Amino acid sequence: MDESCASRPEERLLRFDREHLWHPYGSMTDPIPVWPVREAEGVHLVLEDGRRLIDGMASWWAVIHGYRHPRLVAALREQAGRLSHVMFGGLTHGPAVALGERLVRLTPEPLQHVFFADSGSVAVEVAMKMALQYRIARGESRRRRFLALRHGYHGDTFAAMSVCDPEGGMHHLFTGFLPHQYFAPAPRCRPGEDPTQDLAAFREVLLAHGEEITAVILEPVVQGAGGMRFYSPDYLAGVRRLCDRHGVLLIADEIATGFGRTGTLFACEQAGIAPDLLCVGKALTGGMLTLAATLCTTEVAATISRGEPGLFMHGPTFMANPLACRVACESIDLLLEGDWKARVRRIAQGLEAGLAPCRALPGVRDVRVLGAIGVVELDHPVDMHVLPGRFVERGVWVRPFRNLVYVMPPFVMEDDDLERLTAAICEVVALEAHASSSQRESKPA
Ligand SMILES: *Cc1c(COP(=O)(O)O)cnc(C)c1O
Repeated sequence: MDESCASRPEERLLRFDREHLWHPYGSMTDPIPVWPVREAEGVHLVLEDGRRLIDGMASWWAVIHGYRHPRLVAALREQAGRLSHVMFGGLTHGPAVALGERLVRLTPEPLQHVFFADSGSVAVEVAMKMALQYRIARGESRRRRFLALRHGYHGDTFAAMSVCDPEGGMHHLFTGFLPHQYFAPAPRCRPGEDPTQDLAAFREVLLAHGEEITAVILEPVVQGAGGMRFYSPDYLAGVRRLCDRHGVLLIADEIATGFGRTGTLFACEQAGIAPDLLCVGKALTGGMLTLAATLCTTEVAATISRGEPGLFMHGPTFMANPLACRVACESIDLLLEGDWKARVRRIAQGLEAGLAPCRALPGVRDVRVLGAIGVVELDHPVDMHVLPGRFVERGVWVRPFRNLVYVMPPFVMEDDDLERLTAAICEVVALEAHASSSQRESKPA
């Protein structure tokens, strides 16, 4: 009997995966372990071997209603039976219009125009291109650079990479290829703290380079993949004022924070501001399909359309895909019909209570919670070959990065699952602290 017949199906699956498939930030020669998922329902992932994991990640911010939500599945089925795709050049359709109406209605009033993109990174590229075309149309040829924040993250395509944190990001790898941008220090004022010092530092960079800057780009209130940092909405309000004073556009990247994650529908609401451009993605479709959008003000849209060449120069093949637009409408309706604010608040309380014991553990630098986001920051990077497996052994799915163990569960997670999730984090972090401190002790002086 040949070996491939003898092995269990998931072993064959894993072998091919290991030899042929790239994973996010993966190595083809020294890959970290992966687990095969057979199906998922609610807040549970079901592995090929039948084990069920409580999902702490919502597939990276996206799956806010849980997996296989019957209304999202039904919307997708219905739309697939009618029109799954059609080019958006010269044609339009109901799902695109219905989603556009929702986005224009739900986002701050000045944002009136919607560009549908196929992923978050592309939405960021589109926002940056819009800002540049706006300057070209106004004949402001000196304004060619962006001002971003240290510890920011805006995606993996090249323009997006250029505004990610220059140290934590990939700048050193692509030196000479990435466009040069300016960076202000990451705000250190936590929510509720005074932003004066941080704003002074921001203002300094703006004053030094203001005439070259086309737009500021930032993640409102929560800096995600660049460090899971939370900052005061007053800082954001201050940045908006400074942008206005210096004639600089403001791009809010709400790809992670949009659709309720921080406790308000959009994080910008906490500062009472409207950006000139806004990017959404991730939870837009409730995690059913990839879709993102860039919204802009009438001032931006009209200026671009007046200038040379009178068009906005972008048009993805799968722009405004009807399946994705239809399921996004359903996801938004589902969110707004339910009491999402109470759910997010309850998750925040559960995370706060469940992660509190981590504060006392050695190796833990900080524990913080904002909305349905919980973060345990360690004083050392975790071993990605080991840690995810420890979580799987405990029946939960948590994927740390660098020195951060963090979760952003689906909004539908019930208290008992949340308790199991946070208890597993405390256990694994305690083990980790123990292992890393004994490692440190055993190091020769
Ligand atoms: C995830 C993310 C992106 C990139 O989105 P993709 O869909 O992965 O391309 C951009 N900005 C922020 C803030 C994100 O969290």
